[in-house]
Formats: sequence, C-alpha cells, structure tokens
Amino acid sequence: MAIKRLVMKFGGTSVGSGERIRGVAEIVKAHRARETVVVVSAMSTVTNQLVDVAQEAINGITEEDIKDFARRLKEKHARAIRVAVAREHQGPPLQEVERLSTELEKVLVGISYVGELTPRSMDYVLSFGERMSAPILSGALKSQGIESSWFSGYEAGIVTDSSFGKANPLWAKTNRKIKRVLGRRTERGEVPVVTGFVAGDEKGRITTLSRGGSDFSAAIIGSALKADEIWIWTDVDGVYTTDPRMVKQARTIDVISFAEAMELAYFGARVLHPKTIEPAMEKDIPVRVRNTFKPEHRGTLIVREQKKIKEIVKAVTVLDDCALLTISGVGMIGVPGVAARVFTALAAEKVNIMMISQGSSEVNISLVVEKGDLNRAIRTIKKTFPGKDIVKDVTYDKDIAVIAVIGAGMRGTKGVAARVFRAAADAGVNVLMIAQGSSEVNISFVVAAKDAKKGVVALHKEFIAE
Ligand code: ASP
Ligand code: MG
Repeated sequence: MAIKRLVMKFGGTSVGSGERIRGVAEIVKAHRARETVVVVSAMSTVTNQLVDVAQEAINGITEEDIKDFARRLKEKHARAIRVAVAREHQGPPLQEVERLSTELEKVLVGISYVGELTPRSMDYVLSFGERMSAPILSGALKSQGIESSWFSGYEAGIVTDSSFGKANPLWAKTNRKIKRVLGRRTERGEVPVVTGFVAGDEKGRITTLSRGGSDFSAAIIGSALKADEIWIWTDVDGVYTTDPRMVKQARTIDVISFAEAMELAYFGARVLHPKTIEPAMEKDIPVRVRNTFKPEHRGTLIVREQKKIKEIVKAVTVLDDCALLTISGVGMIGVPGVAARVFTALAAEKVNIMMISQGSSEVNISLVVEKGDLNRAIRTIKKTFPGKDIVKDVTYDKDIAVIAVIGAGMRGTKGVAARVFRAAADAGVNVLMIAQGSSEVNISFVVAAKDAKKGVVALHKEFIAE
C-alpha cells in the first residue's frame, strides 16, 4: 500500500549539526508522501544544556554568564543555518534564532532575579531548543525546493493540561486544531515542520511533554491527521532482538506488535517514548523506527496486529537496576489479605513492583522492585507488619538481574517455558524466581547479576540467532 499521509520525526542526533540537518532535508525529499508533516527535536545536547543553565540561574550565575550562554547557543544555530540552508532562505531562520536568543536571555535573567525555578518556567526555558531547530529544518526543506513553514507544537494544535514538565494532551481540542492548522497545509503540498516536545496549555502557556517527548508529539499529530504511518528517525537501525553491546549476534526486528514493544520498553529497551504507542495503537497507525544515518535500512515496523508470526520469541532483554525482596513467615499461611496489604502499602509509598511471585505454600512472597525503591519498600513492609506474627523476615538481594523473553508467538505455543529454562540451565545459570505474564507475551526470571550476560547469550542463541 502506498503511503499517502506520513508524519516523520527526527531526533536530536539526527539534527545534531548543519550537515546533518541538510541530510535530514534530503531524506524528507526522498521519502515524503503526498501529505507529510515533520516533527523535530532540539539539536543534540541542547535540551540538557538548557536544563543546566536554568538550574544555574537560580544558583547565582552572573548576567554576563547568561548573555554568554545565549550568544553561544545563537552561534551554534546560526552556524547550522549557514550549512543547511541556501543563502536565499537564510533570512527568516537567522532572524528567528536571533529573536529567540534575546528572549531566552531575558527569561534566564528574570529567573536569576526571582531566584526561583518553577516547573512552568523550566518548560519555558526548555522550549528554546526545539523552537530554534525547527526554523532551520524548515529552511533546509525550502532549500530542497519543498514548500515549508515552521510551527511550535502549540501553534500546530497540541493543547495540553497545565501539568508542566509532563503535560497531557486535551485530545478533542488537539485533534480539531491540528486538522485545521496542519491538515490544510499538507493538502496544499506544504511540509510543515513542528517542534517536538513543546506544546501549550489552554491559556497558551508553554508546556512540555516530558523528556524525550518528541516521539509523543509525532504520535499525537499522526493520530489527529489519521496518518498512514509514523516514522521515528533516530540513530539506531530499529528495535533490536537484544542489546547489541552485550550480544554480537543481535539484529533488528522487522515487525513487532505494539504489545511486544510495550513489554520491551518496560524491560528497559527504550526506543520510543512510552506514551508514543498509545495514540498510534488506538488509531491503528503503524510506527516505523529508522536510522537517519542509514536511510536505506528499512528499520522496524511496529503494528497493532501481526497477521503471521514467524518467530516465537522476538527479543531477549535484561534489566539490571533492580532488587529482589522476599517476605516470609509461617504466619502468612492461610491468612487472607496478606498479599493485598503488602501491595496496597507499597503502592501508597509509590514503590514500583516489577515482578511478583508467591509459592502455593504461602510461606513467602517474592517481589522485584527498582533498586532505588528498595529501602523504602523494606521500611514500608516492616511498618505494615509490626512484630513477627505474620511476617517474620524481610530479606533482599541487590545483586540480581531480570531476564525477559518477549514474543507474542509464545502465546499458545507449548513447551516454550521448558526450552527457556533448559537453555538457562545448560548455560549454568541458576534461576532464582520466575514469572509469566498472563498475556503470555513474556516470560521473565531473576538470576544473579553475574549470570545475566550468560543467560541472555544462551537464550538469544536458543530462539533467535546462532
Ligand atoms: N529535546 C527533548 C529532550 O531532549 C525532547 C526530545 O528529544 O524528544 O528531551
Ligand atoms: Mg531526544
């Protein structure tokens, strides 16, 4: 099926320099569909620099330092303009970058005078990265003979609540406005360039969608316009079968479902901002992850439902920033509600529980939590069950890792668990705890940290590639 309507998002490294921005414009030219919208991140490292300078502003940097920062940021972007944009189109982006750097300087000086950095002013500061990169890419497109103008996420139609730092779109308004603003332009054959990550609340105050949120911006726009596909251009070939730094046989996955991608994201393989999937899934819009530096590579396609699944297991991942917590006591046997009390208390303390298992003997409950939550979890359980009547011991192990085997093809396939644990055993990996989600999309198990790599290598070999 030919793609008629396409949203393409380019991440920070993809627009990291003038040369790269020019390369992105060439990619857009080569791949554009009849109707195309481009979403862009800030040039790489810029958002982090903005976070730092905003924090320094309240810790008493001088006005000179602020001026210096704004000037350097302006120069970085001006340099990119001179490389990426043909001379006759340089005027508007240069003026915009100039105007924004003056505005940023004033904002930072203001923050330094007040000595207070609210989430709202932080969002305002962070918005400058994308607001400076979008005009450049738009100019670069014009230089390729493509009709284009740039928009902030808010101008483009993304209206959010006022949760600064992690704003949520108000969908009805957003969908309507995006169609009105962008839809009309794409129908005329223009390619609008929209700032990722940045939006605005109902009062028009700048909000952001949380770090890495440009992917989400692309999904919001794609879903409002009912795009045929959303392409996330990044700096890797796609979604990998496992961490290529750990296993050299790792390769990219051709097609994966949203459900599998969500499991993967949960187990730490962060390819997409987690909120990206929801709007795309709801409107059944496939998302393709591609590499800007290897545009000939087809990348990974993420779809709602896969017709024919060839592979039983799609990916093997490992999560190592976690700890195993075991609650035990013969007093727990036959006492209803112990598990409920454990989970309620931990939830109230915002401890994220990643895995649970209870043997039928009921003598203990094992949990995997994030390492950072471990002490809080222990304290909470001891407070919830004072004395030794019910819970006698709370023990933990910090030197563990969770290995997760992911694939919708495991659903209904007999003998997968047996193969998983045989492979682990043959590799000399001792399994400390097991859990399988009832969706059967993943089997995960806990091993000693020192065994993690061995386990992943063995499972990847068993199911994916020699
Ligand atoms: N520039 C923002 C960030 O670094 C948003 C993004 O890159 O998606 O978090
Ligand atoms: Mg980014």
